[in-house]
Amino acid sequence: MLEKLPDNYVPLLPEVEAFLAQPVMPYIGGAYVAPYSEQTFGTYDPSSGRQLAQVGRAQKEDVNIAVKTAREAFDAGDWWLRMSPADRSKCIWRLAELIEQHAEVLAQLDSLDNGKPLKTTQTDDIPLSAKHLYYYAGWPTKIEGSTIPVSQHTMFNYTLREPVGVVGLIAPWNYPLLMATWKFAPALAAGNCIILKPAEQTPLSALYVAKLTEEAGFPPGVFNVLPGYGEEAGAALVEHRGVDKIGFTGSVEVARKIVQGSVGNLKRVSLELGGKSPNIVFADADLEQAIVGSTWAIFGNNGQSCTAGSRLYIERKVFDQVIAGMQEEVSRIKVGPGMARQQPDLGPVVSDEQLDRVMGYVHEALDQGAQAVTGGSRLFGELQDGYFLEPTLFTGVTDDLRVSREEIFGPVVCAMPFDDVNEIIDRANDTDFGLAAGLWTTDVRKAHNLARALKAGTIWINTWGNTEAASPFGGYKQSGYGREMGKEALDLYTDVKSVWIKTD
Ligand code: NAP
Ligand code: MG
Repeated sequence: MLEKLPDNYVPLLPEVEAFLAQPVMPYIGGAYVAPYSEQTFGTYDPSSGRQLAQVGRAQKEDVNIAVKTAREAFDAGDWWLRMSPADRSKCIWRLAELIEQHAEVLAQLDSLDNGKPLKTTQTDDIPLSAKHLYYYAGWPTKIEGSTIPVSQHTMFNYTLREPVGVVGLIAPWNYPLLMATWKFAPALAAGNCIILKPAEQTPLSALYVAKLTEEAGFPPGVFNVLPGYGEEAGAALVEHRGVDKIGFTGSVEVARKIVQGSVGNLKRVSLELGGKSPNIVFADADLEQAIVGSTWAIFGNNGQSCTAGSRLYIERKVFDQVIAGMQEEVSRIKVGPGMARQQPDLGPVVSDEQLDRVMGYVHEALDQGAQAVTGGSRLFGELQDGYFLEPTLFTGVTDDLRVSREEIFGPVVCAMPFDDVNEIIDRANDTDFGLAAGLWTTDVRKAHNLARALKAGTIWINTWGNTEAASPFGGYKQSGYGREMGKEALDLYTDVKSVWIKTD
């Protein structure tokens, strides 16, 4: 159950205390139900290490029940056969409104579970989740087929776009509710029934939202949440032959298992994976903007963003100036508990496992001669109970080191100089990933040329990190396939049927 939290925390809302007071159970068929095994697992506050709640540990049997329930809702229930697209819109819109009404509760839950500052969940994670639903609430009435001008003149041909069916959605912990919403909003708009598996570190907000779907008018069985471990609940969902599609966000390593696990019924799979995104600062950039932008490109969300600008390339003649500017910018960053009354800019990393992983990269880089211009250590003192790290800016590194090639998913950036445009295009593209890339320049030709030359699903020019429900997002190369957001996400959750009618 909820352990006593440190005294310097914002007081918990009564709704949050009540929600965490007893084990939080999987949500199947419109109700919280104990898992078949009756086992639970703990979820913790990474700022203090204290337990927040016990959570029902869904496993294979629960996946079987959830799939059966979702299938019944899809095939025979009110959801698809009787509910009109306009009514589906209303449900999604109402869910967005309910998320706004419960925003403070959800902001506390995500801050507690993930560790990120409450001010961030209040201004970003939760409002953006609601916005996402508002955007997709507009779609059910606009998902259209087409009439095709076939050359067989006695034939009439048209297409229907239909939901895929029962979809399994597997989410990461870095933006707990937002990453889940990126998936379930378009899946629901397209008329599917969903089974969401949140990350084991951050299951709380999705489980809270599950209850709101009732008030929003979703028929039971349309929206199901199975908290649990990836190897158990996640793998069972992936392998289940009654699941028609898996939407996954997470690591490349787990993505490979998902592709392998999906072969039984050749279910559709879409993958949003990691990155090692190059951020390129040209000497002709507005350097003040580039310095602030590049600092937050990596340290925003503590580097725990798939799009973190973790490879920083700076044109040699301004290298020292940009590094000095970033050093100053970093010196103003306050790190502390996400729920502290005195709000920090950054919280801890999500778990001790993640802390060890990140520190492993830091120590290796230091051993190989990297210089930590800022950071390089764990934070102790009054932060010793949490998983706090100093934002770390490395110079003296090269492209071939592990620290410059692998996704660290923590507050660590490798800064390297470059001399000319062609060189930097090659170096930026020399990676297995292709999620995002960015550049800072005032030369419009350079901006457009690099936008084409860089191999990544998103290019940011004189900015970093912008996403919006209306704009497609996803990876090139091993950063995944399929595009979330925008009208493209609807392609992930629909199948196209071609209908032929002989007219003579
Ligand atoms: P992860 O370890 O790959 O886990 C992601 C999800 O997969 C979790 O819910 C996890 O459950 C589950 N999982 C683990 N093993 C599984 C298996 N064998 N079968 C089915 N599901 C399984 O990733 P993470 O550490 O949570 O998240 C960080 C990664 O996500 C980074 O690589 C980051 O770049 C990527 N990411 C990408 C995007 C994007 O949009 N491209 C956005 C955010 C994050 P457990 O929690 O129980 O392990
Ligand atoms: Mg947690």
